Amino acid sequence: QLYLDRIGQTKHLNAFLEVFEEEALEKARALDSRIKNGEPVGALAGVVIGIKDVICYKGHKVSAASRILEGFTSLYSATAVERLLAEDVIIIGNLNCDEFAMGSTNENSAYGPVLNALDNTRVPGGSSGGSAVAVQAGLCMVSLGSDTGGSVRQPADFCGIVGLKPTYGRISRHGLIAYASSFDQIGVFGRNIADVAKVLQSIAGPDEYDSTASKEEVPDYQTIHNKSWKIAYLKDALYHEGLDPEMKEGYSIFFEELETAGNTVTAVDFAYLDYVVPAYYVLTTAEASSNLSRFDGVKYGHRTSLKNLELTDFYKKSRSEGFGKEVKRRILLGTFVLSAGYYDAYYTKAQQVRKLVVDKLSEILSEYDAILMPTVPSTAFKIGEKSNDPIAMYLADIYTVLANLAGVPAISVPLRRHSNGMPYGVQIITKQFSEASLLNIADHVM
Ligand code: GLN
Repeated sequence: QLYLDRIGQTKHLNAFLEVFEEEALEKARALDSRIKNGEPVGALAGVVIGIKDVICYKGHKVSAASRILEGFTSLYSATAVERLLAEDVIIIGNLNCDEFAMGSTNENSAYGPVLNALDNTRVPGGSSGGSAVAVQAGLCMVSLGSDTGGSVRQPADFCGIVGLKPTYGRISRHGLIAYASSFDQIGVFGRNIADVAKVLQSIAGPDEYDSTASKEEVPDYQTIHNKSWKIAYLKDALYHEGLDPEMKEGYSIFFEELETAGNTVTAVDFAYLDYVVPAYYVLTTAEASSNLSRFDGVKYGHRTSLKNLELTDFYKKSRSEGFGKEVKRRILLGTFVLSAGYYDAYYTKAQQVRKLVVDKLSEILSEYDAILMPTVPSTAFKIGEKSNDPIAMYLADIYTVLANLAGVPAISVPLRRHSNGMPYGVQIITKQFSEASLLNIADHVM
């Protein structure tokens, strides 16, 4: 009830697309009586959680914040949702986001932008903006988002909370609406590491419904080991011209503090930084153009009301009416880079860049426990500041897309407050399937 009341008081933030009020209260009452009767309950009993509107929950609407899926109801639940329910969480509602998880500000939602709760003239980041604000404003305890190129870490950074993107394949993607399948990963927002670790513990692991979900054993994420760490930071990231000078100073001081605290902190080279955003946008738009071809007005959601159209005109009309501007831009870009004449120049080239990035990161991570760097080059943008300049918007993803290109786990934890009043975080990256040490380092740093 406390959370429902707060949601009612913060409607202007536009974080929720739907609140499951009756269902949540009923679940809470049922749990209460089970506990009173001494019956066993799950590891997350009573945890109030919100889910991004790209994650299916049986019998509930899911739209990817797009008109094309308006009114569509999930026929099954995502594996992550099933596992949370098995641990007795209370799902309180589904959360606003950028349409099909494409964006960095949550301004691309068909249901309007989400506002940053700390400063209502600023964006919360995206694409999981609703998931971040729901935790930031205390509208739920933890939330699920998805991270294809930073959509959990970047809004966590802008909102001053914790955001984890696990290793590619650590959490099943079954029931997650696909954006770019070789990048997508469900992620977790929370206020502290312990909460995030507990949720990850419940949802990670193999799944017969997703062949890309890893069979790697799920270790204990909840024990904190105090030790000192061998840390690397990327010179090319810290000295990048796009990084806010005050933040650069903040990171430099922070790295010194880490040394003083007994860790080793070493500057390393990473020459590919300026290629990661172009490679990311070539590959993800290519995958998106293919994934989104299923929304054809026949199988799902929106269908044009115009009659007597030829089949291709029917597809075109339904898709033109249903998809928003950014989604259309990406479908066009994706089909372009995959077209016969340009495939080698763009798609193949970007795959080669991806391979170089994977190799270089794994070389660094074989020598160091973790790579530390900024999550985003600036604090939260003003609403509208970048919405007419897609290139500037894409370039701000420079620090987050790296982990998705390489499939490694990464987390953003709050670090400091900028003189403009907004928080900013530090990003930690470790090698594949090393979430246990990632969470330990994050706890050490926080
Ligand atoms: N901003 C990035 C994009 O628009 C990241 C999105 C995401 O991680 N879902 O593609």
